[in-house]
Amino acid sequence: MSSSAARVTAVDTYDIRFPTSRELDGSDAMNPDPDYSAAYVVLRTGGDDTADGPEGHGFTFTIGRGNDVQVAAIEALRPHVVGRSVDELCADPGSLARDLTGDSQLRWLGPEKGVMHMAIGAVVNAVWDLAAKRAHKPLWQLLADATPEWLVAQVDFRYIADVLTPEDAIGLLRRGREGSAERTALLKERGFPGYTTSPGWLGYSDEKLTRLARQAVADGFTQIKLKVGADLADDVRRCRVARAVVGPDIRIAIDANQRWNVDDAIEWTRALAEFDPYWIEEPTSPDDILGHAAVRKAVAPVKVATGEHVQNRIVFKQLLQAGAIDVLQIDAARVGGVNENLAILLLAAKFGVPVCPHAGGVGLCELVQHLSMFDYVALAGTTENRVIEYVDHLHDHFLDPVVIGEGRYMAPTLPGFSATMRPESIAEFTFPGGTFWAADLERQRTEQQEQQTQKLQKQQKEQAA
Ligand SMILES: [Mg+2]
Repeated sequence: MSSSAARVTAVDTYDIRFPTSRELDGSDAMNPDPDYSAAYVVLRTGGDDTADGPEGHGFTFTIGRGNDVQVAAIEALRPHVVGRSVDELCADPGSLARDLTGDSQLRWLGPEKGVMHMAIGAVVNAVWDLAAKRAHKPLWQLLADATPEWLVAQVDFRYIADVLTPEDAIGLLRRGREGSAERTALLKERGFPGYTTSPGWLGYSDEKLTRLARQAVADGFTQIKLKVGADLADDVRRCRVARAVVGPDIRIAIDANQRWNVDDAIEWTRALAEFDPYWIEEPTSPDDILGHAAVRKAVAPVKVATGEHVQNRIVFKQLLQAGAIDVLQIDAARVGGVNENLAILLLAAKFGVPVCPHAGGVGLCELVQHLSMFDYVALAGTTENRVIEYVDHLHDHFLDPVVIGEGRYMAPTLPGFSATMRPESIAEFTFPGGTFWAADLERQRTEQQEQQTQKLQKQQKEQAA
């Protein structure tokens, strides 16, 4: 099979759900019972002799119900992908990204936001996984080795060219490459700083918070994060507990997950200021650019961070234009994939705002580390005030899980985007037919039957009496 003949032969999708809500892992003020889920896509490739080529894996993250809707959105993109030349796709993933966002009918469902845009992100990221595998490089390195001109050709400047032109971007990337060889060596040796949210979920007891915060410091993390926003008295108590455990030198970020109106956000953050929070994350709606700007003005020197629910580069542009954020939080699987995240990293670099990615969920740490590492090596050029979120959930389900040492993400070495989930995990947690869910549904049915039988017996006894 000549590789030039290879084409995408199938776009396979999976609705994968993990029962995380049963442990209150991941609970916050807006999301009390998440079942961490992946709408997962595999691009299969092959040539005329039907030999299997490498696969591209991608996904978007959801928290349970609706993951089937997300999968259906990915399937709606299938006609754009099946039959395409693998060589052409990998040489220019941006061509597919533009075709997907430009679909003249599907575009009505956005444009460039929501379920359809997340589906595009999953497919585009799967292409980048395939491209990095074929180049025999981890994605961060493929990006860092690429020429500024090629990278800029991957970016859609539509709607952002008023603040970032292709010429600006070329300039930023050329400057970003100065000293990149030294930074690559440093990255391979020392990794990239992380921070941990594991101690701070809202459903955890003070005892568990204390134990996990102490553990985080012992593990080498220099920043932790607490969920806030459900009850002020609780938050004051939990922040006091956490500050007492970690001491004055460890940064404590707080995260309200969009719980507040603008005035509440200001009042509540001020009420927690005595515990020296480093940033307040998602104080209000991710769409409220001017609201974020008002909060930032009112709560300084507490920083304002947002981005995990920011739907596209255009909203990020406005957050930066409005001086609404101190910390920009990209998410690898919410916007339209690597191409759009390149645009967002370039916007952040232009405004000099540090990027501290959102991660956790399922597989988000695995993906987003590549983008931060590229940013460090070949764009922003520094790790100062930059940290990648880390949550120690569900990594075992991936073939190339993140490696954390001394509170830092070690650079991935395997080719690809670290997106490939273990086949046995897919078989177990596919909803509703995988082995875990099938057994779980059967158990629920049995329990319901037993309850009904007991109720009936009780009624019969009462009638007999
Ligand atoms: Mg958050």
